[in-house]
Amino acid sequence: MGFWQGENTAKHVYEPATLTKWLMPKNGSGNDYNGLGRKDVYRALPQFHSPTPHPWFKVTALFFFRTMGGNFNTVISAVKHKWREVTGHVPVADEVVRKSPEEFTAEVKKIALAHPEVEVVGITRMKDEYRFEGHDSSQYKWVITVGRSMDYDSLARNLKGDFSSAITQVIGGYELTQRGAVHVANWIRSQGWPAKGYGGLSTTEGEWFLSMPPAIASGIGQLAKNGSMISDKLGSAFRIASVLTDMPLVEDKPREIGVDEFCMSCKKCTEDCPPGAISDKKQMVRGVEKWYVDFDKCMPFVTEHNACGICLSTCPWSRPGVAPSLSQKMLKKMARRQETELAS
Ligand code: SF4
Ligand code: SF4
Repeated sequence: MGFWQGENTAKHVYEPATLTKWLMPKNGSGNDYNGLGRKDVYRALPQFHSPTPHPWFKVTALFFFRTMGGNFNTVISAVKHKWREVTGHVPVADEVVRKSPEEFTAEVKKIALAHPEVEVVGITRMKDEYRFEGHDSSQYKWVITVGRSMDYDSLARNLKGDFSSAITQVIGGYELTQRGAVHVANWIRSQGWPAKGYGGLSTTEGEWFLSMPPAIASGIGQLAKNGSMISDKLGSAFRIASVLTDMPLVEDKPREIGVDEFCMSCKKCTEDCPPGAISDKKQMVRGVEKWYVDFDKCMPFVTEHNACGICLSTCPWSRPGVAPSLSQKMLKKMARRQETELAS
């Protein structure tokens, strides 16, 4: 174990570096902060701008310092993201265009999918449970989620221990997806309706919300064992961005695509996660039993490798072109089982 980089002392046992250990909280767990083991339902606490400071704040700061300091592309992406967040939205048109929610929905989806950085789009209603605790100032009615794939070959270099592209794919992916979200927001604004695009690096205080639950609610994908979503189009290696708006729209529904059933019997990410942060059992988190990644194990490894994402690239659904057929196969299997159960 070194000052800057830790090591695996056994399979799934990672000993963090001296610096990370020094910055880690002595008594605070990121899992407790995330509500692991809590049966009561309450809203998530944000990592930043929280009334309760995150116990791992110093390690998170080290992560940003290391990723930004060691990768110029990441800095460029972060600057572009911030610049677009602050200056990228056109004024809302004075004249309000009025159409049916169905017509607007069709147009929004067409505009989104025509953008080069958008491959999937879904719409759901904003709910209180998506808003982080203490962040209520944004009262938009709708969340539009857009998503795009990461470059699989670049990301998958992490399977051979090269994490340099993983962080570029994550941070660069956030920036590119945000480009699509702001494009959609600007089209909505041109129709006279308020809208704002948010990417994965957005830091707009007072408007923080969870992006994955509304994406799942709008049918983009399902929560997987690796703690990320799996889409039946993009697999698990993709990024999302959101648009909040009041334009009248029609909501999509969550979709069964066979992810949960597949994850129940697959152990690829559990096996391949170096610090053993992924569990084969669902866990209780803020009143909901679900797949959960151990924050306290994942964070030191991610910090010291300036990224990770092995759980994304190792997932069978992430290999290019595999997800649609895998989903179809799982749905057929589930339908066959249901038929057998009904017949017996
Ligand atoms: S990013 Fe995924 S594979 Fe890497 S340490 Fe975290 S949970 Fe494990
Ligand atoms: S690797 Fe397997 S268990 Fe892990 S998320 Fe992908 S499908 Fe699920």
